[in-house]
Amino acid sequence: MNRQAENLGYSGTGEPEDVLRWALAEFYPDIAFAASFEHTVLIDMMTRIRPDIRVFSLDTGRLPEETFQCAAEAERHFKIHVDWYFPDRAAVELLTREQGVYSFRESLEARRHCCRIRKVEPLGRALQGLRAWITGLRQDEAESRRELRQIELDEGRGGLVKINPLAYWTDRQVRDYTHQRRLPYNRLFDCGYASIGCACCTRPIAPGEDPRAGRWWWESPEHKECGLHVNNRLNLRSDQTP
Ligand code: SF4
Repeated sequence: MNRQAENLGYSGTGEPEDVLRWALAEFYPDIAFAASFEHTVLIDMMTRIRPDIRVFSLDTGRLPEETFQCAAEAERHFKIHVDWYFPDRAAVELLTREQGVYSFRESLEARRHCCRIRKVEPLGRALQGLRAWITGLRQDEAESRRELRQIELDEGRGGLVKINPLAYWTDRQVRDYTHQRRLPYNRLFDCGYASIGCACCTRPIAPGEDPRAGRWWWESPEHKECGLHVNNRLNLRSDQTP
């Protein structure tokens, strides 16, 4: 474990609520939750610790209607306000005028370019001034996330601390928790979707398929990341097991 990990000093149970309690005590108010509105498990957990936790989300301009419905339900249910971030207008206009509205299907680089404009750049603005951010990432979502830990240093973003409380949870646990607590969730999960992003880049999956198989389904499995969660991190809890 490196020196920064020792200085951060989390030594709790590893339960998601425990990780959140530690993170909010350590970093509030310089911490925020990046919500994708697939489900609202983490909002439920964190608003019981800090009702005023900042929640933000990225409106890429291509999100499905069900994601906005989930966000609106979450605002009512938890009495929160979601800070939406949008892509740079001029960059989107240039992209679509010069390359068309489906340029992301043409090559991996074209797809990454679209993700950079619609997701990565707005995320950078959303994270400005923070010391830590919280995500809903889980190991079981994709091959590219198997090494995910609950507390990491986001080296790609200047050493920001990245908290992934659900890293070791399964899709089943998320669904059971959502059902038991009657939480808002994205209705596309009732239609065969296992991972939800932009409408034009997400489709339902077949039984037994990798959960991320429905994202950018025309690309090979090792490319199933959009650049928001770059794999250049230090694991601060590398000793921790699910
Ligand atoms: S998921 Fe698709 S539409 Fe959304 S930003 Fe990435 S390439 Fe563009």
